[in-house]
Amino acid sequence: MKFLTFSKQEQSRLGLLLEGDRVLDLTSVLASRPDLGLTGPVRNLNELIALGDDAITRINAADLLAGVDINALPLLDAVSVLPPLAMTRNVFCVGRNYREHIIEGNLARGRPADSFPTAIEFFTKAPSAVVAHRDNVKRHAHLTDSLDYEVELAIVIGREGVDIPRDKALEHVFGYTIVNDVTARDLQARHGQWFKGKSLDTSCPMGPVVVHQSAIPNANKLMISLSVNDELRQQDNTSDMIFDVATIIEQLSAGMTLKPGDVIATGTPKGVGFALTPPRCLQVGDVVSASIEHIGTLTNEIVA
Ligand code: MG
Repeated sequence: MKFLTFSKQEQSRLGLLLEGDRVLDLTSVLASRPDLGLTGPVRNLNELIALGDDAITRINAADLLAGVDINALPLLDAVSVLPPLAMTRNVFCVGRNYREHIIEGNLARGRPADSFPTAIEFFTKAPSAVVAHRDNVKRHAHLTDSLDYEVELAIVIGREGVDIPRDKALEHVFGYTIVNDVTARDLQARHGQWFKGKSLDTSCPMGPVVVHQSAIPNANKLMISLSVNDELRQQDNTSDMIFDVATIIEQLSAGMTLKPGDVIATGTPKGVGFALTPPRCLQVGDVVSASIEHIGTLTNEIVA
């Protein structure tokens, strides 16, 4: 199941993305199904996640499309997509996690090419930076000369946990989405910690959908790519990650509680703009499309 949050008549609705990119208004459908035993209205992903695994299983098994004319439903392009989570608690991030990306970064910074991290580099982006599919991303030209893109597989936590062992880690995953970890490279370097350069307004495009984990056969084996104005810049497979999804959850949750609605971006593959020769960072008018197999494509335009 591919879930999205969208706006209809100024109200937030939970949607189900169907074959052919049609969007079913799940908020309305679920409200008409008392037989599913749901405890309240479901207007966004947070409220769906809060229902718990049993309710998701009942929704998954229910014949939600009975009597629905799929061709009469709006297309994804015709609905007003919101960020998938009405409230993103934390946007945790993993730095340097793809082998080839680490090598390109080392070379661009004049370091030995084969210097790899031995522990996961965690940082966060401010939740206030989150924007939706097709929302504009601000160039912030008065602050940065090096706004860059980073396509990333992002984990959406569904079940609270602390000290989660590797072999139980996937039980805490609700699903997966796409994050573009937009980064002001000069601010990232200048301020010592990465937080400021990673958290300018609009620098965390997320979505368009969250795919339930049951629909992702193996999150550690997904094609991942990003293009700028239809020119392919990043292309890899999540199998190139040094620290896989379970390892990231195990290490992040050690002594630190993860809660439903937390998002963990898992790092970006090779091909970022600052490491190209010459560097090619984002400019006003650029259209950035980030894609991951089984999830979809997250598209945003850079504006002044
Ligand atoms: Mg990143």
